Amino acid sequence: MPPRSPHTLLPIEVTGMSPVAAPGVRDRLRIAIQKNGRLSEPARALLGSCGLSWRESPDKLFCYGDNAPVDLLLVRDDDIPGLIDSGLCDLGIVGRNVLAEQAAERAGEGRGANFREWRALGFGGCRLSLAVPQGWDWQGPAQLDGRRIATSYPALTRAWLAAAGVQADVVVLSGSVEIAPRLGQADVVCDLVSSGATLAANQLVPVCDLLQSEAVLAGPVADLDPTLAETAQMLLRRIDGVMRIRDSKLLMFQAPRAAVAQVLRLLPDAEPPTSYPMEGEDMLAMQALCHGVVTWQRLEELKRAGARGLMVLPVERMLA
Ligand code: ATP
Ligand code: ZN
Repeated sequence: MPPRSPHTLLPIEVTGMSPVAAPGVRDRLRIAIQKNGRLSEPARALLGSCGLSWRESPDKLFCYGDNAPVDLLLVRDDDIPGLIDSGLCDLGIVGRNVLAEQAAERAGEGRGANFREWRALGFGGCRLSLAVPQGWDWQGPAQLDGRRIATSYPALTRAWLAAAGVQADVVVLSGSVEIAPRLGQADVVCDLVSSGATLAANQLVPVCDLLQSEAVLAGPVADLDPTLAETAQMLLRRIDGVMRIRDSKLLMFQAPRAAVAQVLRLLPDAEPPTSYPMEGEDMLAMQALCHGVVTWQRLEELKRAGARGLMVLPVERMLA
């Protein structure tokens, strides 16, 4: 094999995994993300905001990190928990629904999982919901006794039924679950819902949520090897910084000491502010990171409370 240049993209075979080094001998962190799908772009955007870059390789499965020892593996989302479990990948960005389903599947088989949620990432929000045909008078899980439930999440559905003490048939479908009642394949469905429009188009109504989901950073339960752990910690610090400033603004202003308490009461979503005394005046120059929207109306209220020279600034990076 020719020597690797840091700018070379390495196409690899996921099936069989032959060209991938054995677990434990790597010194570059490997992150699995969805190749094509709802989480692909936001996952890349998040890692991009963390300062990482790769040579684009839309048709390849592996992208070699340009500026940090962090490589990407582009796969189907369902493969991500298994890749972490086996140590072929160190981290992954995947829906909590997929992680929880595969953990429940392993638990059902009496095996543990060497993957867990490390961080919730705040995008890809959806719910795994039980939905029944419009017109059903939903009374509770007992109504499902002896019924058929179509789902792509059999382990979570079975665990939920068992917890509710209900005997129902779980019909496992890999897609188009919401059409199953109309086709006569099932009575109700247990499926991912975000807006609810797909369910409504199939005359179904969500009645009960089994799981609140969003994209998460998944990693192993066990510690990573020290070199990889150091890179993973660097990435986590940056992700935390990106998450903390998402939708945040830096608010700068001056206020007389006597008005500060009143001004701060108007900033319940701000982190504890930094303040500096202004020379020769009984005023403080202050800055506070606000996590909510700072509207004109809020600025006017702050001004009425005594603040002056109000400025709202975008925040690009933060390292706590
Ligand atoms: P793959 O080809 O990678 O297996 P997929 O079809 O399983 O793709 P997508 O439809 O791209 O997956 O969904 C990926 C994830 O997006 C889901 O697992 C879920 O976490 C999240 N998601 C957010 N909203 C929805 C929704 N309305 N329906 C389905 N998934 C959603
Ligand atoms: Zn999938």
